[in-house]
Amino acid sequence: MPGFELFGASERKHVNDVIETGILMRYGFDGPRKGIWKAKELEAAICDTFGAQYAQLVSSGTAALTTALSALGVGYGDEVIMPSFTFVASFEAVLSVGAVPVLVDVDDTLTLDPVAVRAAITPQTKCIMPVHMCGSMADLEALQSICKEHKLLLLEDACQSIGAKFNGKYLGTIGDAGTFSFDFVKTITCAEGGVVLTNHKDVYTTSDGYSDHGHDHLGVDRGADLHPFIGYNYRISELHAAVGLAQVQRLPEFLAIQHKNHSALKAILSQVPEISFRRIPDPAGDSCTFLSWFLPTAEITEAVVAELKAQNILAGNFYWYNNNWHYIRKWDHLKQSITLNALHPDLKAAVIHHATKDFSASDAIMSRVISSAISLLWTEEQIKERGEKIVAAVKKVLAAQTATA
Ligand SMILES: *Cc1c(COP(=O)(O)O)cnc(C)c1O
Repeated sequence: MPGFELFGASERKHVNDVIETGILMRYGFDGPRKGIWKAKELEAAICDTFGAQYAQLVSSGTAALTTALSALGVGYGDEVIMPSFTFVASFEAVLSVGAVPVLVDVDDTLTLDPVAVRAAITPQTKCIMPVHMCGSMADLEALQSICKEHKLLLLEDACQSIGAKFNGKYLGTIGDAGTFSFDFVKTITCAEGGVVLTNHKDVYTTSDGYSDHGHDHLGVDRGADLHPFIGYNYRISELHAAVGLAQVQRLPEFLAIQHKNHSALKAILSQVPEISFRRIPDPAGDSCTFLSWFLPTAEITEAVVAELKAQNILAGNFYWYNNNWHYIRKWDHLKQSITLNALHPDLKAAVIHHATKDFSASDAIMSRVISSAISLLWTEEQIKERGEKIVAAVKKVLAAQTATA
C-alpha cells in the first residue's frame, strides 16, 4: 500500500534541492529560491497525472477536506451525508466548518449505500461526501444522479484511493471537488500533506486563499496581497512537497506492484468457496491497495481474526468492525459530542443523534469483512506463504464450526 516502503534516491534528491537553497516555504522568496518551486511543480504534476484542471496542495488530507468544504461554501446549517465506515478525519472536517455530518450506512462496496443516501436527504442537505475506502470506489454513477436530481454538491474523499479510477476517470476528479491525503501511510506520501482537486476555477481560487490566511496571491509580494475573505494556515512546506514530487512520478510503479500482489493474494484466497470479495463498481479501476474479503457470518469472521492473531499473522489484516478509528461503532467521542470547544446546540444535538441511529445494515457488512493491506515489498514467496496461512486459518475455523453445528 504505502509509498514510504519504497522511499529512495529520488525522494532524497528532491529534498536536497530544497535544502541547498534553504527556502523551505512554498510562497515568496523568489530570488533566493533559485527557481526551486517544489509545491508548484507538484501541483502541476498532480493535474497532469490525474487529469484535474486545478490542484491546491495543503498540509494534510484533513486540511484538504476542510478547505474543499469551505471553498464549496458548506457551513452553518448545512448537512453533509457521509458513510459510517471512513476515517475520523471525514467528520472532523465537516464539524470544523460548522456543518452537520450525517452518517449513513455502507453496503458491500464498503462505501455509501445510495439507498441510504436518498433516505437521508432533507432540505438542509448540501453535499454528499463519498469516501473511496481501501483503494476502491463508491458507486459514483448512482451518487452523481442523486446529486443532480437534488442539486447537491459531490465531494469525493479519495484520500485512500490515489490512482484508482471510475469509468476511466481518476477518483477525486469526478465530483465538484476531491481530496487526496499524502500522510505517511497513503499510496504516495509527502510525510504529511494533502491536495484539493477540482475542475472549477472558483473552487480552486478560494482553496488557494483559504489555505493561506486568505491571501489572494496577486500582490507584488506577500505583504501587498489582499484578503478578500478570512482564511487559515493549511500550507504545505517545500520539504514535504519535494517528497511528494518524487513519489508522484513513481505512482505507475507503485500501482503496478499493487495490482500484481493483489491478484496473487486474491487467487489464493479464492480457493476457499466460503470467502467472497468486496463488490467493486468498476473492477478495472481498483487501485489494489487492499484486498477486502467477506466471510459468511460475524461469528466466523471473529473466530478467523482470533486465529490470525493466535498465529501472529494478524498484522496487515484489518478487522474494521473492532477498529477505533474507522467505524462508527467505536466512535463514542462523536456519539457523545465530546469537543473541547462548545458547538452550537443544534449541531451538538445532530451529532449526538448518531448514538441512537440504527446502523445494523452497516454492522451486517462490517462485521464480516477483513481488509488485507497489499505491501509493495512482498516477494512472490511471501505472498504465497501469507495467503496459505490465511487460508489454513479460515479452513480451521470453518471445520470447527461444522463440528459444533
Ligand atoms: C488518511 C485519510 C484522511 C486524512 O488524511 P490526513 O492526511 O491523515 O489528515 C481522510 N480521509 C480518509 C478516508 C483517510 O484515509
